[in-house]
Amino acid sequence: MDLSYILNELGEERASYFNAVAPPIMQTSNFACRRVDDMRKLFENEYSGYLYSRGLNPTVDILRKKLAALDDAEDCLVFNSGASAIYAAVTANVSAGDHIVSVSKPYTWAQKLFNDLLPRFGVNTTYVDGTAIEHFERAVLPNTKIIYLETPNSWNFALQDLAAVAELARAEGILTICDNSYCTPIYQKPLGLGIDLSLQSATKYIGGHSDVVAGVLCGTTAMMQKIFDNEFGTAGLGVTPFHAWLLIRGLRTLPMRLQKISENTRQVLHFLKAHPKVEDILFPFDESFPQYGLAKKQMQGACGLLSFYLDVKKIEDIVTFCESLKHILMAVSWGGYESLIIPGCASVKEKDYDITKKSQRMLRLYVGQEEPEYIINDLSQALNNI
Ligand SMILES: *Cc1c(COP(=O)(O)O)cnc(C)c1O
Repeated sequence: MDLSYILNELGEERASYFNAVAPPIMQTSNFACRRVDDMRKLFENEYSGYLYSRGLNPTVDILRKKLAALDDAEDCLVFNSGASAIYAAVTANVSAGDHIVSVSKPYTWAQKLFNDLLPRFGVNTTYVDGTAIEHFERAVLPNTKIIYLETPNSWNFALQDLAAVAELARAEGILTICDNSYCTPIYQKPLGLGIDLSLQSATKYIGGHSDVVAGVLCGTTAMMQKIFDNEFGTAGLGVTPFHAWLLIRGLRTLPMRLQKISENTRQVLHFLKAHPKVEDILFPFDESFPQYGLAKKQMQGACGLLSFYLDVKKIEDIVTFCESLKHILMAVSWGGYESLIIPGCASVKEKDYDITKKSQRMLRLYVGQEEPEYIINDLSQALNNI
């Protein structure tokens, strides 16, 4: 399907709302039925129409159609956070006694789900280094129900070969789930490579303006209905109509924003690589990246997030660097207009500062949409301050 058609027209029925160019926010909790039979049908299957906005809502449906089409998926559910999309996708597909194989160091709250919450219900997880398919082969047990992936990882950018993992999982009857937040469906289509469920934090690139928290899950209609009838409705995990409306608005400019961020990232990388105080950089589309070949094979683009290591004598130099930045904000998340940075040393206590640990010398940068000189000049003056 044509990308512009998806973003401009798919799901939008302008004639039914006064030919308004922008869709309405259907701000209602409930929907009235004219006939008892209509109400009965909705009671029997709430996924068949509009009954109550914890379930389906027309504004959210416009967004669902667009997001499913972008991912080449049959269907899609939109959640009130990326974390709830992960929670629903995983818990819907395991029962007590089941086993999960997860790539090592997935998103923090996925780790909390696997480490703290699921073991209470008799579900255990094995983590594997996802850079070689043999590691998955060895970790699979007779009771393995899910292989959980995140490629590229949003911190160290480690990749998994999606087609190879999908082939292994299909042969064993195991469901595959991939967190695609880094790429969005514009730069990577996991379902096309054989993955069963593709999810992303819409808080990042889809929202695109640091003002919405939401999540997306794409897969078959049967799987979406199964999740809708259980986890989605039980815990009330759906996105609100207003947030869905903001996400539709974000989608219109998604391809253009990614282009701008890609170009900015190219220039910032060029600057960082040449700087004497920068020891190393990590970025999937850089030729020095260990999995560059795989990145080029399965991804159509890469941008925004990258990591670099400073060549400094003490952690305090990294603190000085971060606190000298005048424009780049020290903040979690990414995908909005503003460039952001997170120092690895913020995850350790001051008494545990150890400059010999590479992870403490690392900085994760999100290159935003400002003019490239504005970002580079800020990095440059802060590096000079060390
Ligand atoms: C942010 C993020 C999530 C969680 O999404 P929220 O919208 O913050 O709940 C999941 N995976 C990755 C890779 C993320 O960066």
